[in-house]
Amino acid sequence: MSVLAVGTVAFDSIETPWGSAERILGGSASYFALAASVFTDVRIVGVIGQDFPEAYLELFSQRNIDLDGLKREKGDTFHWRGRYHEDINVRDTLELHLNVLSGFAPKLPERYRDSEYVFLGNIDPMMQIEVLNQIRKMKLVVCDTMDHWIRESGKDLRKVLQRIEILVINDSEARLLSGYSNIVRAARAILKMGPRVVLIKRGEYGVLQFSDSSVFATPAYPLEEVFDPTGAGDSFAGGFLGQLARSGDDSQRGIRRAIVYGSVVASFTVEDFGVKRLAAASISEIEDRYERFVELTDFHT
Ligand code: AMP
Repeated sequence: MSVLAVGTVAFDSIETPWGSAERILGGSASYFALAASVFTDVRIVGVIGQDFPEAYLELFSQRNIDLDGLKREKGDTFHWRGRYHEDINVRDTLELHLNVLSGFAPKLPERYRDSEYVFLGNIDPMMQIEVLNQIRKMKLVVCDTMDHWIRESGKDLRKVLQRIEILVINDSEARLLSGYSNIVRAARAILKMGPRVVLIKRGEYGVLQFSDSSVFATPAYPLEEVFDPTGAGDSFAGGFLGQLARSGDDSQRGIRRAIVYGSVVASFTVEDFGVKRLAAASISEIEDRYERFVELTDFHT
């Protein structure tokens, strides 16, 4: 099964209390694609500038990620600069340069239009809609967003929410989108906006899943060292949807398993700067950590 992902392919400049990195590979589509490609075939829709290095494209190709939908345009690549606090769940955006992303009109290659699993990664909601409009027979659409788009493009985002099955969002964004500070109320309010499942990412505290009929909670995999949380959310989404595409099981049980796979994949991402650890993670390492995750949360035996 192929998963189609639209989102940013970016340069990230990151400061954490443990170090910093300038203009490394980042972006919502990049993390998502590297994560999902452990489980299934992935196609990227996005845009890069002339300054984007071949070596980064090579990294995607090594994972067999289909890049036909990734356009190179005149200008500079999207660039995000962020800083993390001592409390790693808190980060500030210091700079956001849309560059070639502003005015980008995604055009899907013909063979992408039959993609059954779709990830609308963090990008302008207008572009998410344009991608949805071009797909013929999707089975499952998962969407992510960010404070920037909730504030700047809330109206378009509401339209997207009516057309998706699953929203992945972090706790502060859920509060911003819903207007409720209590996370359960926030999730209930978001469910009324369209999605049948809302997954609330709570950084090092794990993930909460809400639907009309159930609530499910998982911790994050406990790590002694977290170097850089950038991309954890997108890697979670990649592991989650990659596993759903691999298993074809979107029952309540299948979704719970996929949430644990997403959490496992994200735990690799945060172990080093940028995509470094994620890009090196093998399927056997992931399956191994999944088993340890099962033990971690087992209280029946
Ligand atoms: P995450 O840590 O998973 O929430 O996502 C981090 C990634 O989001 C970084 O690699 C950034 O390049 C990307 N990013 C930051 N701001 C935006 C934005 N406004 N729209 C799309 N992608 C963004």
